[in-house]
Amino acid sequence: MSEECTHDCSSCSANCEARDKKSFLEKLNEHSSVKHIIGIVSGKGGVGKSLVTSSLAVMFNRKGYKTAILDADITGPSIPKAFGIKGKLIGSDKGLEPATSETGIEIISANLILDNESDPIVWRGPMIAGAVKQFWGETHWDNIDYMFVDMPPGTGDVPLTVFQSIPLDGIVIVTSPQELVSMIVEKAVKMAKMMKVPIFGVIENMSYLECPDCGKRLYPFGESKLDEVAKAYGVDILARFPIDSEFAKISDSGRIESIINEPADEAADIIEKKISI
Ligand code: ADP
Repeated sequence: MSEECTHDCSSCSANCEARDKKSFLEKLNEHSSVKHIIGIVSGKGGVGKSLVTSSLAVMFNRKGYKTAILDADITGPSIPKAFGIKGKLIGSDKGLEPATSETGIEIISANLILDNESDPIVWRGPMIAGAVKQFWGETHWDNIDYMFVDMPPGTGDVPLTVFQSIPLDGIVIVTSPQELVSMIVEKAVKMAKMMKVPIFGVIENMSYLECPDCGKRLYPFGESKLDEVAKAYGVDILARFPIDSEFAKISDSGRIESIINEPADEAADIIEKKISI
């Protein structure tokens, strides 16, 4: 424990004995049960974190698991749009009821509590963090096998709240070749270690482009450095998603559940195995 310890672990990142004894985990509502929770993190917005979250949820749902998505990207919520879900959430005597997608995925997102989905969410950090905790603890999560949490990008206040309040089984890091991958991975690895959350691995999105005529792989952002980086930090590469205009088309038009994405399928198999070990 540091000499300047204020005994307020929520504003301190030190990894000390006091922290180990204190749990910030939020309780689930008494009518809810969630077996496994996977957080999807990225260094910044726009790298495809929501596409990865939705693709993995779709793959787990296709495996026959009862699947849910908690969209914790409060100020940039794009999950409802990808699933073509509109309208406002309703409450029942069991809590806030998530929206259900066409194939049965249960979804909670800030976009589903706004009067108008294009309204911006102009909230300060503590309010955003409070919303995430409520989405977790005050929702009626009905016997969910796998929940995917679309985390806010970066390593700030809200991602920290998610790490502290939701009992994640592990995280998936999303990167893209345009980024300073080494720095993003290093930060995510350090944060996960501090929070004692396992890392399932990295998914590189927009990794390559496949020529529709000859099938040759092109690397418009340059060849990826992910192999060396993953090795240096001891994390597995779960998949590389191609740049595919069809992905953008279906996720922007609410038809993500019809996605064909073999790398996502393979990543889902690896995560499933890692969780069941
Ligand atoms: P983030 O959640 O990281 O902000 P999104 O998943 O919302 O990013 O993706 C940003 C935009 O890029 C969306 O319009 C999405 O459809 C598109 N996109 C993401 N990944 C791909 C990809 N592999 N190929 C083509 N478009 C993609």
